[in-house]
Amino acid sequence: MNQNNDIPDALQKIFDKALEGKRLSFEEGLSLFSTPYADAVCHIADQVRKNKVGDTVFYASTLYIHPTNLCELSCPFCSFYAKPGWKQAWFLTPEQIEHKVRQALTSQALNEIHIVGGLWRDCNLDYYQEVFKRIKALDAQLHIKALTPVEYDFLAKMHSISLEQVFEKMIEWGLGSLPGGGAEILVEEIRKKIAPGKITSDEYLNTHRVAHTKGLPSNITMLFGHIEEPQHIITHLEKVRTLQDETGGFQAFVPLKYHVENNALGKRTDRLRPKDVRLIYAISRLMLDNIQHIKVLWNYVGIDEAVGILNCGANDLAATQTQEKIITMAGGVQIAMTEAILEERIRKAHRVPQKVHSRYNYTSCTNFPTGKLHMTKIAQ
Ligand code: SF4
Repeated sequence: MNQNNDIPDALQKIFDKALEGKRLSFEEGLSLFSTPYADAVCHIADQVRKNKVGDTVFYASTLYIHPTNLCELSCPFCSFYAKPGWKQAWFLTPEQIEHKVRQALTSQALNEIHIVGGLWRDCNLDYYQEVFKRIKALDAQLHIKALTPVEYDFLAKMHSISLEQVFEKMIEWGLGSLPGGGAEILVEEIRKKIAPGKITSDEYLNTHRVAHTKGLPSNITMLFGHIEEPQHIITHLEKVRTLQDETGGFQAFVPLKYHVENNALGKRTDRLRPKDVRLIYAISRLMLDNIQHIKVLWNYVGIDEAVGILNCGANDLAATQTQEKIITMAGGVQIAMTEAILEERIRKAHRVPQKVHSRYNYTSCTNFPTGKLHMTKIAQ
């Protein structure tokens, strides 16, 4: 035991390493799942966060656009998708999307549009060119954060062009970053069970790699609390960390708590392995020594829990989340969130709010392959 407290020496060594900014091994990360000192792990993650990024908590004013929930796949964990003829199916034309953005701009100080939807052939490159053009015509400063690697892969195959070519076109039309959904768990054994039709872990990560080499930063998610075991989470974190060493293009890591409503997997309660949500965020902060931002989406866990997670390694409270549907259809939190409420909650947590878009207000990002970000800051 450590003489100053009850923390066992082995655990204290891990804490000391993390506080010194040293990299934790797979085994050290895994051991944090079984310790009875989860609160201490969260406390150390909070210290590491403070040392690394200070007390600022970022948020954005975001409009979610889901062009369609029609999808060629039927992932067992997904509550969002629909098939033709289903009453809950929708498809938005570029004109309808323009109308939604125009309306949102009248009521809030939007600074980014988050676009993600199902895999559907009507959402092709011509469609996105038109959508992006209309958004940029309304406000050229609006940051467009769009599509998961799964959707980029779908587009590349649909048009028989390379991922590089897809990104080049999308950047020309106004794409600013990738939101990073669709990662689920980057372990084939689990991925095949919860998302059997999706691209593999390697293909998923390679899509981020290509985006980074094109100068596009991205976030990356992890869906937890379904059938994965702790070793799968640590493997996922290690894969993210390894690619970040190579490219430096990940801006934020976003753990996503799995929700059981309205999906096939949620009915198989015997298979589910719920996790300590705060501990997942803390371990993510401790393992990902090369990623700046850990983002908590309050609509996945509730605003009170999200604010609590700010003390477990997170430094980004995500967004106003207007019109988000993927998690609300799975039983997530539905409240009208405003910038004023987010700022108030952040200040009450004795932290400093700062509104940014998904590039954290940096305008240009280059040299990702060197692992060194060279960014130009927008004048505030
Ligand atoms: S997770 Fe994505 S790809 Fe899978 S069914 Fe849902 S919308 Fe389609």
